[in-house]
Amino acid sequence: MSDTPPNLPSPPPCRDCKVGLELGFLIDRTHGGLLVARWCSGVPQSSWMSGEVKLGQAKLGIKTVTYRCPKCFRLESFAPPSPDHE
Ligand SMILES: [Zn+2]
Repeated sequence: MSDTPPNLPSPPPCRDCKVGLELGFLIDRTHGGLLVARWCSGVPQSSWMSGEVKLGQAKLGIKTVTYRCPKCFRLESFAPPSPDHE
């Protein structure tokens, strides 16, 4: 459908509806503005400084790409490697 981000294979069709998924992304709201949601390995470790997630964990997070089915509205996310994360 639309362009696929680098390092990400073409999106599969919705496994239920068999129609093409729509490219998109999820956002996280922070004090400083808006961010693309990241995928982090493991479980979140809270910190009195940063809140629900330790800064060290967040720094290792990989930006996610999320597809949406236009028929059943199911979301499917991917965390392709970026130049920052091999
Ligand atoms: Zn669907």
